[in-house]
Amino acid sequence: MVATVTYSRYCAHCGTPVSEGPEGGYVCGACFHVVEPLGADEARKARRVERAAMVAEAARLRAMQEY
Ligand SMILES: [Zn+2]
Repeated sequence: MVATVTYSRYCAHCGTPVSEGPEGGYVCGACFHVVEPLGADEARKARRVERAAMVAEAARLRAMQEY
C-alpha cells in the first residue's frame, strides 16, 4: 500500500491540489478559486424553467379571468 495522497483535481487558477466535493465542485484553499459542482448549472437551469412555467401559468390564469 502506497501512502500517498492522490488528488483528483488541481485548482484551475493556481494549480494547488484540491479535494473535490461529492458533486465535483471545490474551493481552492490557497486562492479561494471556486469551481461549482457539475450539476449546479443544470439544477439552476431546471429551476429557471420551472419558474418560467409558473409565471406563464399565472399569466394564463389571469388572462382567463379577464374574459
Ligand atoms: Zn487556487
